[in-house]
Amino acid sequence: MHPQLELLLELQDLQAQRRALQEEPLRDMEEAVFELRPVEALALLDEKISELVGRLEGSIQRRYVELTETQGRAVAPVLSGICYGCFVATPTAWSSEAGRNDTIGVCAHCGRFLYYVD
Ligand SMILES: [Zn+2]
Repeated sequence: MHPQLELLLELQDLQAQRRALQEEPLRDMEEAVFELRPVEALALLDEKISELVGRLEGSIQRRYVELTETQGRAVAPVLSGICYGCFVATPTAWSSEAGRNDTIGVCAHCGRFLYYVD
């Protein structure tokens, strides 16, 4: 897998975790149970996210920042040739290639980074 794609997937995971923390601030549980208060956990996540974004290459970084601001998710899985970001088919020549995740591909329709899961 392309190292920049690995970074993008890692970022996507951290962003999902961040959203979950914000939406579900763990208020049902005893505060004392946590080693880390949610607000601290969020700050640590933000720090890591900025660090990873900083490791993205120029044009990938610009696209990533733009996508997260406009679309929320910047990376979409492709299943059976369909981009799961926008549910539009990706070009077949593309989706049938081996080693597809070794290059950085973007959806021609929604512009998200693509990774193939089938
Ligand atoms: Zn798409």
